[in-house]
Amino acid sequence: MYFAMDEIGFENTEKIKNITTEAERWQFIYDTAKSYDFEGIHFTPSLYNKDFGLDLNNIPEYFQDFKLTLHNGGLHKINTEDDYNSFDVALSQGFDIAIRNNMHDISLHPPDIYEASENEKKSCLEFFHKTIDKWLNTATKSNITLSLETHVTGKYFLFDGLGGYIEFINKYPDLGVLIDVSHNYYDGYSEDEIISHLADKNVKCLHISDALQGADFREGTHLAIEDGSVDFAKILKAFAHIPNLYSALEIKATNESVAKSLSMLKQHRLQNCHKSVRGDIKWERI
Ligand SMILES: [Zn+2]
Repeated sequence: MYFAMDEIGFENTEKIKNITTEAERWQFIYDTAKSYDFEGIHFTPSLYNKDFGLDLNNIPEYFQDFKLTLHNGGLHKINTEDDYNSFDVALSQGFDIAIRNNMHDISLHPPDIYEASENEKKSCLEFFHKTIDKWLNTATKSNITLSLETHVTGKYFLFDGLGGYIEFINKYPDLGVLIDVSHNYYDGYSEDEIISHLADKNVKCLHISDALQGADFREGTHLAIEDGSVDFAKILKAFAHIPNLYSALEIKATNESVAKSLSMLKQHRLQNCHKSVRGDIKWERI
């Protein structure tokens, strides 16, 4: 398992806005990821466009030092043919970027169904099947994994609960699973429930930030590690054995809190390592 940078910290986000050239802003992103000691970078187009003033079509070659992934997040309605076509264009652009930069995973959100009628939800599900059929095939041919995030707040997203999400992904054994720990925990799933629902699925990535159940949405998600109540030792232990699994830190906090969160998560990873080494020794003795 490795850790990937997503958010760069409040002070860094302010700082990059004052850097005039695009080349220097890219260098700043690179240096920031190195100084935090991330092993990978998880690129979200909207964050790079809006907050950093950067176009992901121009990622410099020297970023190949990192393991790279693309997160085509955001809210997309795909209730009509036109919606489907514009989502398809966004995915096509995402795949171009991913292939050009040797990224190993592209992740998606389930479609947005906020205030949709029952008929619209029905066509949304059909269009989403069409989307996954097409792009999973492209992903496999390009040696990239395609992963679907576990956004399952039924009022906003197509799947109402992890049960509905699993019903969908079970039709696609090659589709990756991106677990958003913070959102699932905030929605009322305990660590044990997240693990029992998803441990035997094709998990490729975790979105990591702390959360508080029962709090206001903005105060309850995307928190620094230990500012909420998620047991990350338990979560990481359950998924750490997966080859090339990446954990992207979606923490909206100060630079110092991002650095501290990463160091705490690395401690948990180390403890899992020690446990498995001890396990191996015991196994050899038997
Ligand atoms: Zn997420």
